[in-house]
Amino acid sequence: MHEMAICESIRGILEEEAARQSFARVDRVCLEIGRLAGVEVEALKFGFDVVMRGSLAESARLDILETEARAWCMPCGRSVAIAQRYDPCPVCGSHQLQVTGGEEMRIKELEVS
Ligand SMILES: [Zn+2]
Repeated sequence: MHEMAICESIRGILEEEAARQSFARVDRVCLEIGRLAGVEVEALKFGFDVVMRGSLAESARLDILETEARAWCMPCGRSVAIAQRYDPCPVCGSHQLQVTGGEEMRIKELEVS
């Protein structure tokens, strides 16, 4: 499962950060996930609990912030918000869109102690 692998890489990042910043526990992780990142939020939450068991983030709360997808519309000459990939431009209906945002995923905030 793709989401498990993501959680494992998050755990790796947390362990590296813990070593670098010398904290012993993660209380909260806030993840920012683009709507086009192809991540299932429910699966990710489930995976997070499983993967973090026995780690420094065992009791961490996971907050997920979904960010909207954006694309550049060629005919309109401006950036528009889209709900999914291959959606037409909400303004002019064109399909000449170049996705510019919404595919990223990152750790936005960490609360540690
Ligand atoms: Zn347009």
